[in-house]
Amino acid sequence: MTTIEHWIGGRRTAGESTRTSPVWNPATGQHQHDLLLAEPSDVDAAVQAAGAAFESWGDSSISTRTKVLFNFREIVNRRAGEIAQAITDEHGKVLSDAAGEVQRGLEVVEFACGIPTMLKGGYSDQVSTGVDSFSFRQPLGVVAGITPFNFPAMVPMWMFPVAIACGNTFVLKPSERDPSASMLLAEIWAEAGLPEGVFNVVHGDKVAVDALLDHPDVAAISFVGSTPIAKYVHERATASGKRVQALGGAKNHAIVLPDADMGFAAQHLAAAAFGSAGERCMAISATIAVGSAGDQLMEHVEAQARAVKVGPGRDPSSEMGPIVTPESRDRIVGFIDAGERQGGKVLVDGRGLVVAGHEAGFFVGPTVIDQVTTDMDCYTNEIFGPVLSVLRSDSVDEAIAMINANPYGNGTAVFTNSGGAARKFMRGVHVGMIGINVPVPVPMAYYSFGGWKNSLFGEHHIHGPEGVEFYTRGKVVTSRWPDAGTPSGASLDMPTAR
Ligand code: NAD
Repeated sequence: MTTIEHWIGGRRTAGESTRTSPVWNPATGQHQHDLLLAEPSDVDAAVQAAGAAFESWGDSSISTRTKVLFNFREIVNRRAGEIAQAITDEHGKVLSDAAGEVQRGLEVVEFACGIPTMLKGGYSDQVSTGVDSFSFRQPLGVVAGITPFNFPAMVPMWMFPVAIACGNTFVLKPSERDPSASMLLAEIWAEAGLPEGVFNVVHGDKVAVDALLDHPDVAAISFVGSTPIAKYVHERATASGKRVQALGGAKNHAIVLPDADMGFAAQHLAAAAFGSAGERCMAISATIAVGSAGDQLMEHVEAQARAVKVGPGRDPSSEMGPIVTPESRDRIVGFIDAGERQGGKVLVDGRGLVVAGHEAGFFVGPTVIDQVTTDMDCYTNEIFGPVLSVLRSDSVDEAIAMINANPYGNGTAVFTNSGGAARKFMRGVHVGMIGINVPVPVPMAYYSFGGWKNSLFGEHHIHGPEGVEFYTRGKVVTSRWPDAGTPSGASLDMPTAR
């Protein structure tokens, strides 16, 4: 068993950490690594290293930065398979899905390679006689990212390529459940020529997070994780004067209208509900069948759920892997039990699934609960597992009202062949990311990603143009170069244009 250390100032170090937490292989149930958990002094060492590096990185030319970013992109591309394997072995998701996550992260790196265009300021000639005005943006300094287990490569890559391209230096606190991808990314930065201290990784739990939130030399916090922690991070870090974007949990609904192609809708619903074992913040976990869509849809959904091949993520024939930890598995099973107890009809039951040869793995099979109502625990909680709850409504308006009454607003989708109904839906829902016959509408890197309501605390969505704004602050310069002999025009009145 290996012990995973931090990455501070361009090298691995244990620092002053002595506490550890286990890193599992969810497919085998094996405790495969021990992860060191940072003390506040380790966090301080990382912030100091990042602070020292900022002095030159923050002042480096745009082309120096993009050169390193292009190198980074090439090496991640080359080592994508290795990163995907590390993800599969600690998270459990199947290799093809892990490779997809690396690809979506790379798209943000590619966006960041284009940072010269994004950092172009504005210029206004002759705003007053002999006076010009222009604007530009500068980096914040040391910024930190705190990330969840479910995308150990992609979610950090939503943050640091943009932050670093803008001239900031970065401290990442990845999830303690699957830390190895972030260590590979740190190695790759070094290989790409990023100066020491620009990118640092500290592993840890609440102790490390609190040390980052309170640290006076950290200018901004990007957080992605569950809603209670997102809210806590936002409150604590804004109280200490930081800029914060904190993306939280989700309960994503799809509505299916009677005019939809039911076979198509069911295939996509199953993929969106059971892909990555439902451990995606954009997973569809609730479906509302509108009017007569219900029974026909359920026949198709049941068949799709039963057809999913569950197995270890390293097996290329597996479509869905295990759950990340035994605790998460037990929590998911608890919600299925509650749904059944409270009147839901468990149409497809993934409880107690045993995968031959992997009897100690943390598996739960695809589960469909029909006849769910909005007061049941399986609806009011984010289950974060392969469980699809199906509700019914009489009309599109009622379905939109149900979505809007839900406290989350991350993603949603409509299945229909009616442009008018789709337009009504997209304009009416209080949700940040919307799919029309697309169940997992994750925006491309050149748009920004973010939800509404309890799915986001703070003003900025992540990556894309809003990411650039988040990691920089603006200056506006008003300038005059008086010629010798020009009357100064100075006056004690409020300056106005002439
Ligand atoms: P989590 O909230 O448990 O953990 C996220 C991070 O916060 C981790 O780094 C963890 O170490 C830290 N943390 C956990 N408890 C803490 C505490 N008490 N104090 C301070 N820090 C703490 O989330 P998770 O289980 O790793 O990830 C799943 C959650 O993330 C789901 O709710 C999912 O919807 C959400 N998520 C949201 C998005 C999005 O874009 N909105 C994306 C991915 C995941």
